[in-house]
Amino acid sequence: MIRKFLHRVFRRGDPSSSHAPAVIPLARHGVSRQRVSAGARRTCEVLQQAGHKAYVVGGAVRDLIAGIEPKDYDVATDATPEQVRALFRRARIIGRRFQIVHVMQGGETLEVSTFRAAHNESTLKDEHGRVLRDNVFGSIAEDAARRDFTVNALYYDPTSETVIDYHHGVADLKQKTLRMIGEPRARYREDPVRMLRAIRLSAKLGLVLDPALRAPIREMAALMENVPAARMFDEMMKLLFSGHAVECVKRLREDGLHHGLLPLLDVILEQPLGERFVMLALASTDARVSAGKSVSPGYLFATLLWHEVLANWEARKARGETSIPALYEAMDEVLEVQSEKLAITRRIVGDIKDVWSLQPRFEKRAGKTPYRLLEQPRFRAGYDFLELRAESGEIPAEMADWWRDFQNADPDERESMLVPDTGGPKKRRRRSRAKKTPGEGVPDIAEG
Ligand code: ATP
Ligand code: MG
Repeated sequence: MIRKFLHRVFRRGDPSSSHAPAVIPLARHGVSRQRVSAGARRTCEVLQQAGHKAYVVGGAVRDLIAGIEPKDYDVATDATPEQVRALFRRARIIGRRFQIVHVMQGGETLEVSTFRAAHNESTLKDEHGRVLRDNVFGSIAEDAARRDFTVNALYYDPTSETVIDYHHGVADLKQKTLRMIGEPRARYREDPVRMLRAIRLSAKLGLVLDPALRAPIREMAALMENVPAARMFDEMMKLLFSGHAVECVKRLREDGLHHGLLPLLDVILEQPLGERFVMLALASTDARVSAGKSVSPGYLFATLLWHEVLANWEARKARGETSIPALYEAMDEVLEVQSEKLAITRRIVGDIKDVWSLQPRFEKRAGKTPYRLLEQPRFRAGYDFLELRAESGEIPAEMADWWRDFQNADPDERESMLVPDTGGPKKRRRRSRAKKTPGEGVPDIAEG
């Protein structure tokens, strides 16, 4: 009796387990098991048959209820990583921020994680309150409570086709509201990246930010400076390649979040020409993602940083530096500052330079140069970039049109399209080629 009473009092103090979850039937959430990927269904089945709890969880459940095809599936279970691994033929434990198991089923990879406990006083945090380690196993109720938004804390059981919902996530999703689990300020302190996630998910799902979740963002945005650069980079990539980048940037600005989080975007959005260029680039990225086409970080960063390079390049030319070497200096200087700030890897830096260094070569429309440019492995990216520059008004549309036509033309037509060389005598040009003639002296970048 007393024990029962104490138990009740004790539970009441703990928000994660103070209430029983809603168990929502198929008729109310509408997700039949056929809509779940075969691999996710199979993984839950195997775990359940071994006596464990297992659910599809997180973004996949949210997306399914919202009528969106999930891009990947996470499974949550009360089995430990070792127990999970032992149940599958192709499975391996990977340890990133915490240990999870990758289970391979057909062509799918499922991320299986063990229910995790909520944070308490003993959780390791940095001096700003950011959680550094969070690897204590817990109950499903605790696991739900440590997730970020109510719509992300839904557990779908493919066997019973029910959704377990501790935080009214299904109702919030139906009412198109993004709500934080717990006190938003405390949750942002634990992990400032949640601010970015709030913007990205609200843009993706067309959700309105709950005022309590929205209000602190502006004042707490600076906390993101303490987040490791690599994590910020991952999160930015998710945002820029979400297929909703334009909407995300719009929302970021409305919520005062672009400042400090994307220092380069700050700079760019203040330049009239640069802003148009960046938004066009993001719109074309969104269109590619929606069409299922490939997108590359190098190309996107090349667009984001281009106007910084242009400004730097112009300043150098105004100081009397020779055009092409000045461009290379400008590229290096901009990348040196930005790649560190944005955690851009060396490989991506190489891709960015490829796109930029092709640009002056499009100016040359005589002799063999245009033919050689067509043969460049990165010609396509360079040309797409040129089109964006023309669309944004930076260069004459005529130049991009010429290159479009030149690509499509047959050999005779191409020959007749070449613009007669207006330069001086050939000999002189050849001698000073690497220095004076824009475009001609740019080294081939194929080796990179
Ligand atoms: P996406 O559609 O981009 O995959 P997602 O919600 O699935 O969105 P993930 O990063 O794959 O995002 O995270 C999976 C789940 O893990 C989330 O749905 C959420 O429940 C939980 N989660 C992820 N990041 C956090 C975080 N920073 N704080 C709390 N919970 C998180
Ligand atoms: Mg996900």
